[in-house]
Amino acid sequence: MRAVIVVSGIVQGVGFRPFIYRIAKRQELKGFVRNRADAVVEIILEGEESRIHDFLQSLNREKPPLARLDNVQINYSEAEEGLVDFTIEKSSEERSKSGSVIPPDIAICNDCLNELRSSTDRRRNYFFITCTNCGPRYTTILSVPYDRPNTTMSQFAMCPNCQAEYSNPLDRRFHAQTIACQVCGPKMTLLNNSGKPVDVNDPIKEVGRLLSEGNVLALKGNGGFHLAASSLQDDPIEKLRRSKERRNKPFAIMARSLEATLTFAEVNSFEREQLESYMRPIVLLHKQYPFHLSDLISPNLDNVGVMLPYTGMHYLIFNSTSDPALIMTSANAPNEPIITESNDAIHRLGSVAEYFLVHDRTIAQRADDSVVRCIGSTPTLIRRSRGYAPVPLPLPGPPKTDVLALGAELNVTACMTLNGRAYVTQHIGDTETVETAKFLENAISHLEHIIGFKPDVVACDLHPAFATSKIAERKSKELDIPLRRIQHHHAHAGSLLAEHSLDEIVGIVCDGFGLGYENEAWGGEILVCHGSEFRRAAHLEEQPMVGGDLATRYPVRMVAGILRNEPAIQDWLMTHAPHLPYGENEISIIRRQLDREDFVWTSSCGRVLDSVAALLELCYERTYEGEPAIRLEAALRDGRDRLSLKPVIDGEIIRTTNMVQTIFDQIGKVSSPDLAFSAHAYLARTLAEASIAIAGEEGIGTVGFSGGVALNETISLMIRKLVSDAGLQYVGNSMIPPGDGGVSFGQAYLASLEQ
Ligand SMILES: [Zn+2]
Ligand SMILES: [Zn+2]
Repeated sequence: MRAVIVVSGIVQGVGFRPFIYRIAKRQELKGFVRNRADAVVEIILEGEESRIHDFLQSLNREKPPLARLDNVQINYSEAEEGLVDFTIEKSSEERSKSGSVIPPDIAICNDCLNELRSSTDRRRNYFFITCTNCGPRYTTILSVPYDRPNTTMSQFAMCPNCQAEYSNPLDRRFHAQTIACQVCGPKMTLLNNSGKPVDVNDPIKEVGRLLSEGNVLALKGNGGFHLAASSLQDDPIEKLRRSKERRNKPFAIMARSLEATLTFAEVNSFEREQLESYMRPIVLLHKQYPFHLSDLISPNLDNVGVMLPYTGMHYLIFNSTSDPALIMTSANAPNEPIITESNDAIHRLGSVAEYFLVHDRTIAQRADDSVVRCIGSTPTLIRRSRGYAPVPLPLPGPPKTDVLALGAELNVTACMTLNGRAYVTQHIGDTETVETAKFLENAISHLEHIIGFKPDVVACDLHPAFATSKIAERKSKELDIPLRRIQHHHAHAGSLLAEHSLDEIVGIVCDGFGLGYENEAWGGEILVCHGSEFRRAAHLEEQPMVGGDLATRYPVRMVAGILRNEPAIQDWLMTHAPHLPYGENEISIIRRQLDREDFVWTSSCGRVLDSVAALLELCYERTYEGEPAIRLEAALRDGRDRLSLKPVIDGEIIRTTNMVQTIFDQIGKVSSPDLAFSAHAYLARTLAEASIAIAGEEGIGTVGFSGGVALNETISLMIRKLVSDAGLQYVGNSMIPPGDGGVSFGQAYLASLEQ
């Protein structure tokens, strides 16, 4: 009997063909296996029916750990003559709209790590050690099928030893496309900041020493450059902060090991699982006190972002430094994408990094590190990039329209829906700059090429001024396809519908800003969603945003607006005038604008939290996205809900002035941690109570929470508990970020539902 089998899913770049080879040989079947240009694997088998049956059982049961079988198509026919053996054939150029995909980058596996540390292995201490189960994938692939000539490894001809392993079916590097060794593979060079090679025997060993001495180094990795520095010394971190224009924004660190992490952070079992996963994301952990690393890593915060080493290079660097952890932050100019080319790195980072550790392998696609926070037991993605992209996410129901969605403005990703799955690009960044917009378009065309995608519909945000909206308009014209503009918070709620296969939901969506239908600023919304339709059922009280964006940057302005009718506020403002760039003059202008009602209104949840952060003297200027609210959450550690404020809900309006007013009245009487906690508790309780009531009226059984504020553990867990206690299902985002990194996914799904 003959069987023609086509397997789609994640089947290229994960040791799948060698695996097929082994199980076919075991069953003494004839035929061949090959990769196709649409990222599927095709298998031709000939032999006894029972053996083909056993083969198929092994296919499902024993598949390689990183393979994912989405669809196995089998056609039986009479055996033909002429097949004498089972072989791995050259890839075919054939392609159909398979929706199959290549894998993400995978952290170094234990077998490779053991070889790296062995004293006899021929790849001992080789920084670019990989195998069929590990190594870069998405960042090294130029085109499909995933074969060496289609990767940036094509520039390295295999030495006889590597060639022998590559061709030996019993070797664990059989058909490993990233196979390399000291003799034939990529090489490391250490450069000084004028680009001249530094004459050292072992560049990586030197790097550890230079870092321990307090130097800042730029390290070329698999998906881009990192800036690295000691985690124990203030000077190099201060230098990094100055040069990256990052006054307070926390830096991620890479810890030597889990044991080392436990000396400065708390790690529960959920967090540990994330840290050690092959995705190796940055995991947001609670600090362990006294915190023995530099306070400049994440100033004024209770959290620190930690990842474990994920390449041979990282492990080797830790061999020559005694630091428990190293600062490891994406190397980029402010608001620009991560740097991938050595010359560019030296040109742009020459003033911050003293040395550059570079290799001679080209980076095909950028990928920043991913970031995860465990909200209770639920790992929640803050940034979905390396290790995750471009693995598709399943969409509910039968395949619908093929949509390309462009996201919003900050933390942008793009998303494509094809064959019932959503393909989300790696993290792109804030698309305010030309460089980032270019990166976005490049990532889109790369992914389109790999999955064989052509959109029928393009989707974007309602905001006409976003760079992403302009790209969407252009694509809609160029391709002559419809453009759908999806309201920002509706897209967030849509991401919950898609992630949890729901038809309807009461969605609480809280963040900083999204445009409403009449040019209002939304950001604390309760939406009733049925399929692609929605209704704004309730929202946080609208508050004055004096000076527009300035009120986002300087939260004292939000206090002035929210408490405009409080007689004692003038004194408070005058006391806090030094925290505004123009001091008392600015206060007078703010007062005049308030009197004339010369301001915009916002229902943003983020802005309310900001105002409390200013009242509690935690933060007067936002230097990175979400800073005041993040610092407010950090301040509630050891606090409790002393105020127990009663929810005030007037019809569709969830009041916030009463809460801010009470906080103001209680300053000095109740401790800051208790006030911070009480503010969180009030918002969570009110949003939950309003949603539960709406769910009851509408006969909807599920309440969800999305938007950037859903990353706030305290608010999320309280809403979850209240919703569950009311007998309703609670859902949050997990596979896709609740923040704006998840907007494209929600846009794409909602647009795909429309006819
Ligand atoms: Zn490996
Ligand atoms: Zn070699």
